[in-house]
Amino acid sequence: MEKIEHIGIAVKDLNQANKTFQKLLGIHPYKTEVVITENVITSFFEIGESKVELLESSDPNSVIAKFLEKRGEGLHHIAYSVNNIYDEMKRLKTEGFVLINEEPKRGADNKLVCFLHPRDTNGVLMELCQEII
Ligand code: ZN
Repeated sequence: MEKIEHIGIAVKDLNQANKTFQKLLGIHPYKTEVVITENVITSFFEIGESKVELLESSDPNSVIAKFLEKRGEGLHHIAYSVNNIYDEMKRLKTEGFVLINEEPKRGADNKLVCFLHPRDTNGVLMELCQEII
C-alpha cells in the first residue's frame, strides 16, 4: 500500500459539515460528488498528500444511513491507495481478510475501490483504492 489516500467521515448534514471543515482546514472542498450506486453525496478536502471525504446519505436504506443510525457521526473508513487493486485484494484475501466486495467497484473521486470487513481490522472499515486512469 502506498499511503493513506483519504479518511471518510459520516455526517448527517453535508452542507453544515462542509462549513465546519472549511473553517477547520481553511480550504474549500475541491469537489462534491453524488455516488448513485452507494446512495451517498460526498465532498473532498485535500490536505497535503491525503484527503478528507465527508459522506452524507441520500437514501434511508444506504450503508451510511445505517451507520449513522447505529454509531452516529464520525470516522467511517480509512482508504489506502494501492498500485494494483487486484493484486492487493488477492494478497489480503490470502492473509485471511474478508473482502466486502469480491470485485473492485467504482467509487467516488474516480477510483476503483474495495472494502475490507471491519471485523478483521479492529473495528474500522478499510478501503483500498486505485485511481482510474
Ligand atoms: Zn472513501
